[in-house]
Amino acid sequence: MSDRPVRVRFAPSPTGPLHIGGVRTALYNYLFAKKHNGTFLLRVEDTDQNRFVPGAEEYIVEALRWCGIQVEEGIGVGGPHEPYRQSERKAMYRQYAEKLVERGHAYYAFDTSEELEAMRKRLEAAKVAAPQYNAVTRGTMKNSLTLSEDEVKKLMDSGMPYVIRMKIPRNEEVRFHDVIRGWVVVHTQSLDDKVLFKSDGMPTYHLANVVDDYLMKITHVIRGEEWLPSAPLHVLLYRSMGWEEVMPEFAHLPLLLRPDGNGKLSKRDGDRLGFPVFPLDWKDPATGEQSSGYRERGYFPEAVVNLLAFLGWNPGTTQELFSMEELIGAFSLDRVSKHGAKFDPDKAKWYNQQYLRKKTDTELAALFMPTVKDKGVHISLTTENYVERVCSLIKEKAHFVSEFWDMGSFFFIAPEKYDEGVIVKKWKDGAPAFFAKVKDVLANTTDFSSANVEAVFKKTAEESGIAPGSVMQLFRVIITGLSAGPILFDTIEALGKDEVVKRLDRALQILK
Ligand code: GLU
Repeated sequence: MSDRPVRVRFAPSPTGPLHIGGVRTALYNYLFAKKHNGTFLLRVEDTDQNRFVPGAEEYIVEALRWCGIQVEEGIGVGGPHEPYRQSERKAMYRQYAEKLVERGHAYYAFDTSEELEAMRKRLEAAKVAAPQYNAVTRGTMKNSLTLSEDEVKKLMDSGMPYVIRMKIPRNEEVRFHDVIRGWVVVHTQSLDDKVLFKSDGMPTYHLANVVDDYLMKITHVIRGEEWLPSAPLHVLLYRSMGWEEVMPEFAHLPLLLRPDGNGKLSKRDGDRLGFPVFPLDWKDPATGEQSSGYRERGYFPEAVVNLLAFLGWNPGTTQELFSMEELIGAFSLDRVSKHGAKFDPDKAKWYNQQYLRKKTDTELAALFMPTVKDKGVHISLTTENYVERVCSLIKEKAHFVSEFWDMGSFFFIAPEKYDEGVIVKKWKDGAPAFFAKVKDVLANTTDFSSANVEAVFKKTAEESGIAPGSVMQLFRVIITGLSAGPILFDTIEALGKDEVVKRLDRALQILK
């Protein structure tokens, strides 16, 4: 690593909601920056105005904030290289494209779309596999390499639209080192003369990206694998500009794959696969299409960060739970895999469950309380103490706070139905008499602690010649309506004597 201070950037294009793969890219950049006492920048690459989507930039900022990825320079924060939105830097890029033309590394091209189309057809007819504007074909087109200086000037003066194209060397090998993939070697024969500067006065992604990385003193470019094919052009740009000395190191991250490993997890997968592919909910402003996000599905940001960190990286130990601080300590690009990382929806839930278990009952109660109140629960049952207690009893089996109501509504509302299966099987001859007795005994029990109620229940069963185990599930159904749930006698203690006696009474009337 060079001795320049580490500076990395996350450089999304605001073309829609940020995909979780994008969040992972931001996260790896952030972890790397923090690990090396460096700076994490957010730059918005909005040079392609046709693809601009309103609200996308705000979404990106909010998604990073929610995940706890702190932007230290750039959009929303400012810094020494303002502005950080490329459309606002527009005036600056032309000079770099012109500089390349002067140095003989780029040229003006005046071809109309019809002429480009005609070239494509010509090449297709000649059975050229991938027709391109490149070192071979540029000699047949209308550009400053084929036209005289006078002709070029005349066209420009006449207001003829033109682009600036990179003049890719004809026969060279471009070699560069990728931190994750090792040496990458690409022959320039496979590269086309990409447009660097468009006729609308805007740079293309390639030019703006490289110029800004240079000006913003970026030391490491950590980005998704889909940008690997662009990297040779970027390397050539650094060279042609004379910036090779300060060319950043490249690290291309592996793709996120669908759970079955069949293809990459794309934005279009939306909710089709049964789990969100976006950090936050998103409504497409043009089509109104809704996509769900991890936040609204009830994921904790710590869980999302942890699971994303593990999609493509591992610490080399068996530890799976990492806080952001721990990730910063453990992260290294050396341990990022070259191979695509399969998204595992069950594992994602598991992570959330782990973080749910780490929450205190007070924290969980605060998250659960709005639902409890929404359901119109009697006010005396919405005290913090009671809701905390309920949380402590139901949290063990839950993955999300949003499951709490279904799992534990009986803590707030007496059951109206009783589990059919259990009733049919167990509500037999002796049962009504036995539970009538249980009701009387409990009504006269002053110590309503879990342990004592259990002892009293067992004693009553034994006195009636019944094995306690054989009526336990029935007791649960009478109290909760359900055949399974949290520890029964703890549940009973939480509900309290009055409620438990009431429920027994009610069951005896309903079931007969
Ligand atoms: N604007 C590009 C994107 O949308 C950035 C790629 C890069 O990091 O160089 O992903």
